[in-house]
Amino acid sequence: AGTLYVVATPIGNLQDISARALQVLEQADLIAAEDTRHSARLLEHFALRTPMVACHDHNERSGSDGLVQRLLDGADLALISDAGTPLVSDPGFHLVRQARAAGVRVVPVPGACAAIAALSAAGLPSDRFAFEGFLPARSGARAARLQALAGETRTLIFYEAPHRVLESVMAMAEAFGAQRQAVLARELTKTFETIKDASLGELAAWIAADSNQQRGECVLLVEGLDDKAGKDVVDAESQRVLMLLAAELP
Ligand code: SAM
Repeated sequence: AGTLYVVATPIGNLQDISARALQVLEQADLIAAEDTRHSARLLEHFALRTPMVACHDHNERSGSDGLVQRLLDGADLALISDAGTPLVSDPGFHLVRQARAAGVRVVPVPGACAAIAALSAAGLPSDRFAFEGFLPARSGARAARLQALAGETRTLIFYEAPHRVLESVMAMAEAFGAQRQAVLARELTKTFETIKDASLGELAAWIAADSNQQRGECVLLVEGLDDKAGKDVVDAESQRVLMLLAAELP
């Protein structure tokens, strides 16, 4: 059988493609791309002539069967998405899963990922973090998700669409408190790259005052709940319960 290579591509700056990624894309028999028209520009830039086939959210489940068959027939396949690492808020999960289930070798060719790039420059605790991908678009579901994350002590990483970034930061301020530290990482590796750290309250005001901050692509990072502060809250509450219990005891 052939090999399925999962290849990361740049998130803006084309120089971020790795030498290995270029070699794999050139030598593969077929490239499965999220959007063939979008990726045609990348291939053209690097003068690659490997044939492409679409592998996006709508056809991934059904299309994977055919691709796994190609792999079993001996073809080497490279999976790419529009930008960054496939499967990270991008298609590829079903193909990788089906390929592995069929006993096909799956090889990662690592490279750019917006979440990791943002974390590496944000200056927030990075020893533990939770990648949350996109929040629900509807405000009720988003508030519920944020509420469920309010006690999380790890640094939180979100992807967000530019036209929703202000609402999201405001919803985060409500759920986590306006004092919680956060970072907006926008247009990473591109001309207008901006990495702004502030409290959620300040960040919301800053974004509201400058409509440029509501353009392009962005990652939002939020510091986790302070462990010690969390304990203090719990301690005050347990103390209150203990006093109530003590009053009831004979
Ligand atoms: N697979 C990609 C990765 O590895 O990062 C993510 C794909 S997801 C559909 C697209 C989202 O990633 C954008 O909405 C944005 O949140 C984030 N993103 C992608 N490129 C970015 C960049 N250059 N700067 C900031 N965020 C970016």
